[in-house]
Amino acid sequence: MKRAALMFATALAAILLTVSPAPAEQIQYVVHISVDGLRPDGVTSQSAAELPNFYRMRHEGSFTDNARTDVHSSVTLPNHIDQMTGRGVHGPPGASHNWSVNAWRRGGPTLHSNKGSYVAGVYDVAHDNGLRTGHYAGKGKFRLFDESWNAAGAAPDTTGEDNGRDKIDRFLYSRDMAALTSAWVSDMTARPQNYSFLHYRDPDITGHLFGWMSSKYLAVIRTIDGQLGAVFELVENHPAMRGRTAIIITADHGGQGRGHAKPLPNNYTIPLMVWGPGVPADGDLYAMNPTTRRDPGTGMPQWTAPTPPIRNGDVPNLALALLGLGAIPGSGINAAQDLKVLASVLDTPDARCLRVVGSRRRPRSLLPGRNRGVRTSRWTRGRRCTRTWRYGR
Ligand SMILES: [Zn+2]
Repeated sequence: MKRAALMFATALAAILLTVSPAPAEQIQYVVHISVDGLRPDGVTSQSAAELPNFYRMRHEGSFTDNARTDVHSSVTLPNHIDQMTGRGVHGPPGASHNWSVNAWRRGGPTLHSNKGSYVAGVYDVAHDNGLRTGHYAGKGKFRLFDESWNAAGAAPDTTGEDNGRDKIDRFLYSRDMAALTSAWVSDMTARPQNYSFLHYRDPDITGHLFGWMSSKYLAVIRTIDGQLGAVFELVENHPAMRGRTAIIITADHGGQGRGHAKPLPNNYTIPLMVWGPGVPADGDLYAMNPTTRRDPGTGMPQWTAPTPPIRNGDVPNLALALLGLGAIPGSGINAAQDLKVLASVLDTPDARCLRVVGSRRRPRSLLPGRNRGVRTSRWTRGRRCTRTWRYGR
């Protein structure tokens, strides 16, 4: 009888192992998307029928609607440097990139000359380890990245085989979002880049012209949803990328009225979504990282906060972790690569309890600042899963 039980347990364990989420090493491609000026409610105020691909990111993957921009900046260029380097404008201590202006000029400073020392980025680690990289930018000032990490500006490749200095294999700037997507699709079809970055500019442009959350702003998010459809289409049908690709979507800042520069919740609150093999469906990124990240409510924690919020600056070291690579030298945000998104590496005992509780949309009664410590729960496959919302702390 004992023997039978043991055999049963062994068989059960074998089954559980076969169906357990894919290991990190399965992911060979990461697509990092930044939607310029995307507020979380730019998505949640629209329906899944209107935004099928954004909702697909959320329901097949894990996400938060309460990530943060840089502590000291809610404008475009500094927040994209955070997303490329894992550094902030004036922190974390010892790991700032020091680029505070939202402008670039040809022949002007690079990231390195501005800082006074070399600033490595996600491209250094990916390229130096022999991976292919791409950067598809919707604003001309992103040529800062190409100039900082091209053959003239970047550090020598001293990791393994020398793949040359130029860290970005394909750099493209286009103001036309559809053209940007089709160039990416055609480049990736021919030769996939292990790390590629796509930047969609229009929500910011439309927000400045017509207002954040205006009907035109919301319509532009629907247009980008169509671009995401093309990304999914490729990722699921390319023989090399299928089943081996993660997609990360975040933003540089939100917006309110016709601007986004002031330190207001609507400006510094952004979404972060992760989709890919091994990423829990409907996962709440804060619930998945209970000891290393803390939901900031409506506040903006400083760089020195003992438990930081999830930030857009987490993304480059997350992307590298998913690719099986170490953190960016000199980075300070997610430098321990402890923002976990794969079910196989979570500390939480029961991944089924990580799902967003209740209805698919966060209930109105749980909007930040409204309810303190509301406890909600539901039954998931026979287990009661409870979590406490910490808004309004
Ligand atoms: Zn703007």
